[in-house]
Amino acid sequence: MKFGTKAIHAGVHPDPSTGAIMTPIFQTSTYVQRSPGDHKGYEYSRTHNPTRTQLQNALAALENGKHGLCFASGMAAIDCIVKLLEPGDEVVSTNDLYGGSYRLFTKVFAKYGIKFTFVPMHDVAAVRAAMTERTKLVWAETPTNPLLHIIDIKAIAEAAHEGGALLVVDNTFATPYLQNPLDLGADVVMHSLTKYMGGHSDVVMGALIVQDDELHQRLAFLQNACGGTPGPQDCFLVLRGLKTLHIRMQRHCENGRAVAEYLRQHPKVEKVYWPGLESHPGHQVARQQMRDFGGMMSFVLKGDRVEDATAVLEKFQLFSLAESLGGVESLSGHPASMTHASIPAEERRKAGLSDSLIRLSVGIEDAEDLIEDLAQALG
Ligand SMILES: *Cc1c(COP(=O)(O)O)cnc(C)c1O
Repeated sequence: MKFGTKAIHAGVHPDPSTGAIMTPIFQTSTYVQRSPGDHKGYEYSRTHNPTRTQLQNALAALENGKHGLCFASGMAAIDCIVKLLEPGDEVVSTNDLYGGSYRLFTKVFAKYGIKFTFVPMHDVAAVRAAMTERTKLVWAETPTNPLLHIIDIKAIAEAAHEGGALLVVDNTFATPYLQNPLDLGADVVMHSLTKYMGGHSDVVMGALIVQDDELHQRLAFLQNACGGTPGPQDCFLVLRGLKTLHIRMQRHCENGRAVAEYLRQHPKVEKVYWPGLESHPGHQVARQQMRDFGGMMSFVLKGDRVEDATAVLEKFQLFSLAESLGGVESLSGHPASMTHASIPAEERRKAGLSDSLIRLSVGIEDAEDLIEDLAQALG
């Protein structure tokens, strides 16, 4: 089955009791049993809920996996994976990791005796060098935020498996429309469904998708034991979002290209970071492992002054200044003062995060209007 058909049909079935074509919102905490232990597969909604089951199945199908698990947020999904580990275990991760993941690793799990090492992951040799016999997880994210670095998933999977570790890929930026990490050797795909998958900026949720039955059982145990599960109404909203994922992503990619090409030739713009540009250092790997290049990008202004970036951000009419990404509407952000403010200025500069760097989540409006907005804001 092709992707668009899967997005609409895979994993979901009309409701057997009424024929309702859309998965009902099973707003219930518990389920009646005929006799003790004799039930229809549902006992308590932290453990299982039919709306969540259909969403989990749909996600598994889209990522070419066997099992999906949903959580109350992307962070709750990440939390669940790290809880597979024991004190003394080690994790190798990328040095331009999503800020919330970095905070969870270093401020929460480090104190339970789990060690995290951060390396520039587009360099596979650096990953190999950082791995020890205690390394149980390799944590990758590609493209990264906000510089859109590309990590070679196949190469990192080989390195992880040679060292006996599992590879997790945070696929939030790419979505399964652009890239399927399980097909490239990853063991777990993680999503913040809050972003492109939900797609309408109206829900916060996360997910894990795996192939292996035993790994699924260990994660499902933790999902139920720790309890960071989503409500059925939110599951319904993500299920609805998934039905248009392919057409939304197609437009995000088209608009992404139009905006990147406009910015690239603008006299006030110093540099554009978008993996679809041939000048992007990860372009070749992106062409191999992704089907297109998405709607996330960032750019730096000539002169690199914070005041200039602030002026542009204040002038935007359509690119609303807000955290988050991946919704139908275009958003703008200033990493140095917003998402990456907790990183000291010196560290930021070392990681290539200029003070005037502006991040865009290019939405699915008409490209002409988006370019007009950029022209007036930069003018
Ligand atoms: C937003 C995001 C997360 C965290 O997800 P929440 O749903 O906000 O908890 C993790 N990784 C990436 C890449 C994200 O963009």
